[in-house]
Amino acid sequence: MPGGFSPDDDLYAVLGVSESVTDKELKSAYRKLAQKWHPDTNRSDPEAEEQFKRINAAYDVLKDADKRREYDEFRRMVKSGAFRSGGPGGAHFTGQQVRYEDFSDLFGGGAFDDLLREFMSGAGQGGAGARSQRPRGPRRGGDVEATLHLSFRDAMSGVTTQVAVPGDYACDRCDGSGAEPGSDVRACPTCGGHGTVSETQGFFAFSRPCPDCGGVGMRIDKPCKQCHGGGTERRTRKVKVAIPAGVKDGARVRVKGRGEPGFGDAPAGDLYVRVHVAADPRFRRQGDDLRVSVKVPFETMALGGTVKAPTLDGDVTLKVARGTPAGRVMKVSGRGAPRSRGGGHGDLLVALDVDVPPDLPEDAAEALRHYADVVSRETA
Ligand SMILES: [Zn+2]
Ligand SMILES: [Zn+2]
Repeated sequence: MPGGFSPDDDLYAVLGVSESVTDKELKSAYRKLAQKWHPDTNRSDPEAEEQFKRINAAYDVLKDADKRREYDEFRRMVKSGAFRSGGPGGAHFTGQQVRYEDFSDLFGGGAFDDLLREFMSGAGQGGAGARSQRPRGPRRGGDVEATLHLSFRDAMSGVTTQVAVPGDYACDRCDGSGAEPGSDVRACPTCGGHGTVSETQGFFAFSRPCPDCGGVGMRIDKPCKQCHGGGTERRTRKVKVAIPAGVKDGARVRVKGRGEPGFGDAPAGDLYVRVHVAADPRFRRQGDDLRVSVKVPFETMALGGTVKAPTLDGDVTLKVARGTPAGRVMKVSGRGAPRSRGGGHGDLLVALDVDVPPDLPEDAAEALRHYADVVSRETA
């Protein structure tokens, strides 16, 4: 590598000075090091020449006020973590003699590209036929989320239904190539099929997505009429999903492999179905238990008897003990909601409410007055 720099090098450290070094101090530090490592005085040391080059290259940047300012800015951005590693289109960094070609590990890809694009303010507008940057090579399809509204009953019993899943799919007219069927797809002449172009601005040299092909590396002579060259189109497809019995409101049901299709040989993403369960007028869910309240005539509570309570499948008859207080909760084992894990059902909890007739027939009212008389005499 010219200059012998590694991406980790800090130009200040190479010269053994601090960031706040003055021009004079810099010059003196440089002179001392240059003397020390000069190849003529270190003939037996092969490392010396490399070191000498590094010193010169670093000094070349730092002695120039403009370059130094750019380098400081660059360094600040690196330290702030604005750059992420990995991916194509990485930036490298050049001075006259310094050339950081191997910065891709440090600065490649995503966040840095975005930053530079902003930095360049509009330098990289996509030209004709530009499409969203589709990565080359296999890539797993994206996960998608869909929403499903279920009635309480369907949630209890489980249901197999269809959900509408919007997503980007390969255009069926051009099979995703973006080219009108029968027309040619050539390597982009601007970038030679690389998808990126290099540009130097001041002290920075970096690659950015090719403005003519949008980073795809292909030139389409006749864009597909249906997708306008994009190769994908937004479609809503119906996906069959089996929702397990007992699904809870707000649950996310995963349907493997039914998300967006993968690129190349990569697998499709997953579909996540967000389930909304409507409230039921009678049953209220509490974990895997169901609560329901029933009205029981006063005389049944007082004298004992039976009362019918609803369950998910048909009524059950409950025995009410003599002298049952209002609000008592009776448990019917195993008649609650299907358990989302482990099988079986929760319990049904039946709250007994006293039924007060809004309009009592006169003879019943008379009997009740008589009852009241008796009770007050007894307790007097
Ligand atoms: Zn191109
Ligand atoms: Zn198409």
